[in-house]
Amino acid sequence: MAKKNKGSPHVQLNLNVRGLPQSATLAINELSAQLRSEGRHVLRLGLGQSPFPVPQVVVDELKVNAHQKDYLPVRGLRELRGAVADYHRRRSAVELSAQDILIGPGSKELMFILQLVYYGDLVIPTPSWVSYAPQAHIIGRQIRWVPTRADNDWRLMPDELEKLCASDPSRPRLLILNYPSNPTGASYSTNELKELAKVARRYQVVLLADEIYGELHFRGQHTSIARYYPEGTIISSGLSKWCGAGGWRLGTFAFPPQLRWLLEAMAVVASETFTSTSAPIQYAAVRAFSGGIEIEQYLSQSRRILRALGRHLSRRLRLAGVHVPEPKGAFYLFPDFSPLREPLLARGITTSEQLCEVILDETGVATLPGTAFGRPADELTLRLAYVDFDGAHALVAAQQIPPEQDLDHRFLEMCCPNVMQAAEVLQTWLQR
Ligand code: GLU
Repeated sequence: MAKKNKGSPHVQLNLNVRGLPQSATLAINELSAQLRSEGRHVLRLGLGQSPFPVPQVVVDELKVNAHQKDYLPVRGLRELRGAVADYHRRRSAVELSAQDILIGPGSKELMFILQLVYYGDLVIPTPSWVSYAPQAHIIGRQIRWVPTRADNDWRLMPDELEKLCASDPSRPRLLILNYPSNPTGASYSTNELKELAKVARRYQVVLLADEIYGELHFRGQHTSIARYYPEGTIISSGLSKWCGAGGWRLGTFAFPPQLRWLLEAMAVVASETFTSTSAPIQYAAVRAFSGGIEIEQYLSQSRRILRALGRHLSRRLRLAGVHVPEPKGAFYLFPDFSPLREPLLARGITTSEQLCEVILDETGVATLPGTAFGRPADELTLRLAYVDFDGAHALVAAQQIPPEQDLDHRFLEMCCPNVMQAAEVLQTWLQR
């Protein structure tokens, strides 16, 4: 009789998946929850989840639509696709109609399917969000990280993109440009967007503009790069960040007519995989994308709170000797601790992963290491998601303060105590 294989012979993992860990954002969230359940005091700056509740008008719409039970069209509910097209016309001044929109269960899933159907290299600046590269890896696409510089706030500069494209001009490429940025909070000026658009057009790069944080530009001044490169840009958005509905899982892609072939190929894969996005959520999303006064007020208070908190936190870190760009939107900071390399080395810390682990262990502040965003292991960068506060409470409190007045230290102490405490303990830990 043949000897039995001790490791089960039937368990064979695809090589592209073998050894891949769970996504860093979700892993840190689960670890933080576990530590808290064990009684540890954890300040949760790991997962980037909106602290704000879903606007009441959108929640009400979901309640009214709880009975919606039928499968919806693969590309999405017609009414929602129309509302998303109108939204982009209003916000980004790009000409779109319902037939240019694809709805999915989160923009993350849509990004995966885009990478699956498009045959070309994935181009992403370092640092970039944790899941773009693993998705390319799972599918088997080449990943081309474009290095950026700390003194440019880690943003992709047109000459850096030009250099990469010129090295092999006719190579098919998909560039993901995410701003306001996860993990840095940085954004781009109109001129920079125009210059990036020129390079993308010259080399016919397919551009995925990940604008999921667009509405969280602190001054409400987000500009879509699709304005300057409409024929080659897909705009990615969804409910997760600006509408506080990460767990609802609803993402949107908007395609120019020139890239309709990609939408169609994605819809085929969608029809064979997720079928269609949750029906009640799609009906409720129509309300969110239609906008109106309630949504505007909600957004302007959200931006105001995040702006005050992001600025305060970055200032505190700078005072402690850390390099950190001034955030322009979203809810992330990407501090670089290399100015403190010597004292950190004396404490045995030489990599971002060690830094992240020791900080969690010694201060209870949960963060993510720069390596999760494609930075070198020995660079001392971390991502902080300053979202550990009760957003519902903060929104109510902010409404009591006249709009022309900045939210001050007292407001932040009262409404965002955990984030303020994180700033305090990090500063003390660094100065120890
Ligand atoms: N985008 C969020 C983050 O970067 C979490 C969502 C996710 O990774 O699926 O923390």
